[in-house]
Amino acid sequence: MKKQSNRLFYRQILTGKTVFMSFLMAATLISCSKNNEEITSEAQTNAFNADNLKKGQLNGQDITYERKNGMNFFEGDMVLSDKQLSEGNEVNKGGASYSRWPSGKIYYTIASNMGSINVNKINSAISEYNNKTNTQWIYRTNQSNYVEFIFGSSSGSDGWAHIGYQGGKQNVSLDQYISVGSVIHEMGHTVGLYHEHTRKDRDQYVKILWNNIQSGQSHNFNIYSSGTDIGSFNINSVMMYWPTSYSKNGQPTITRADNSSFTYNRTGFTTGDINTINAMYP
Ligand SMILES: [Zn+2]
Repeated sequence: MKKQSNRLFYRQILTGKTVFMSFLMAATLISCSKNNEEITSEAQTNAFNADNLKKGQLNGQDITYERKNGMNFFEGDMVLSDKQLSEGNEVNKGGASYSRWPSGKIYYTIASNMGSINVNKINSAISEYNNKTNTQWIYRTNQSNYVEFIFGSSSGSDGWAHIGYQGGKQNVSLDQYISVGSVIHEMGHTVGLYHEHTRKDRDQYVKILWNNIQSGQSHNFNIYSSGTDIGSFNINSVMMYWPTSYSKNGQPTITRADNSSFTYNRTGFTTGDINTINAMYP
C-alpha cells in the first residue's frame, strides 16, 4: 500500500491580489547550499528583518508570519491574504470547500515577461499535474478565479505561491533559475498543500535542530496543528523542507529522528504526493 503524505489545508477563503518582485539576496545565499541539486529553494533566502515578524492566527492557531512587500509569508514561501489572517481566529471559517479548486479545475495564465525557459518548466510541471493527479490545469480564457504565474527575479531560484483556492486572481511567482521540481512544489501550495515538516506527527520522523536555524526563522519550523494530515509522513515528499533549510551555519536544521541525514526530493511527485492530492480532489 502506498503511503500518502503532506498537509492538506482547509479554509482558505481569500482574495489575494498582488504583484511582487524581489528576492535579490537569493543567488548569493543559494550558493551556500550543501545540496547536490543546483536549484534548491522556495523563497527561504530573502533578507530577513525582525521588524517584519508578525503574530496572527490561522484556523484558530497562533502563528508567526513575515510581512514583506505588502504580503504575508508563512513558512517561507506560502502567502496568506489579509482576509485569511483577519478571519484566522475563526476555526472552520469558510470550510473545506473554500480551499479547494471547484471540480479540481485550476485556470492559469502566464505573465508576458516570464521567458521561454520558465514557460517550458511551467508546461512540464502542468503535465505532471494533469497526467498524474485529479487536478487539471487549464489555460484561462475568461474565468474570474485563476492563477497567474508571475516572474520573480532574473537572478534567483526561488518561488512562492498563495495557499489554496482564494478566489479572484492569485499568483505563483517563479525566479529565473527555479527547478521544475520547485515549480511543482509551489503549485502544490496552490492546490492546498502546506509543508510536510509541519505535520502534527513530524517529531516521530524528523528532528529539528533549533540551534542551527538562522535568527528569527525558527517560526518556520513550528508544527501547524490546525490542518489535516493525509496519509503517512513522507520525508521524500516534494513538499518537504530540505535538510539545511534556514541554516545559519551550513549544518542541518532537519535530520531524521534517529539523527541520520536524508536526501530531499525536488525531482517531482512521489506516489504519496499524488495520492494526497487525489484524496483532496477525488
Ligand atoms: Zn513551500
